[in-house]
Amino acid sequence: MENNSSQIINQQTLLPVMESFYTLQGEGFHAGRAAYFIRLGGCDLGCVWCDVKESWDANAHPKLSVQQIVEKATEETSVNNFKLSTLNLKPLVVITGGEPLLHQLDELTTALQQAGFETNIETSGSSKLSGHWNWICLSPKKFKAPLQDAIAAANELKVVIFNKHDFEWAEIYAAQVNKNCKLYLQAEWDKKEIVTPLIIDYIKANTQWELSVQIHKYINVP
Ligand code: SF4
Repeated sequence: MENNSSQIINQQTLLPVMESFYTLQGEGFHAGRAAYFIRLGGCDLGCVWCDVKESWDANAHPKLSVQQIVEKATEETSVNNFKLSTLNLKPLVVITGGEPLLHQLDELTTALQQAGFETNIETSGSSKLSGHWNWICLSPKKFKAPLQDAIAAANELKVVIFNKHDFEWAEIYAAQVNKNCKLYLQAEWDKKEIVTPLIIDYIKANTQWELSVQIHKYINVP
């Protein structure tokens, strides 16, 4: 009884949600899969090339309860749930930001998993790791280094390449992640014409890495 009561109370916890939408995951290991994105407000990194600067101020976004967030996700992804469940595949939910780990995510991820979702996060890892995750995509940023717990738990390391010096920086983190962690290099969008050929050459010489392309930007989905 106590557990049930606390779960009901916990689902009233509020989180700032900038936007949520059902689309395809465009990047990294799960590229091409249907995915429901929940973009939480708040970021303390200030990357110069950030393309979602409007996410930075957590107070600029409506606060929704965990219950509201999960209900909305369930409603907006319900079309194929039956087929997914018969195949034992759960819909993918990607928690992103902003920097989602600025928030304590245990309650949200517990509720999402209880509702049948597979929980993924895209994070810089620079704040304390919380939440229950089926997949952690660590995308370290130079402006605030990732913490050790996120590095150790990462299923995927995705390094954005801005210039040729970033390969060396990528290797610093590749040396620290666990041996099963997938390694991706992704061109910074505005520099892609210059750095994509460099990434291709690098991967050909360092075959532990793979290319991540922002497919969603080519097919014009969010
Ligand atoms: Fe933008 Fe992400 Fe960097 Fe935050 S961590 S400034 S949201 S790119």
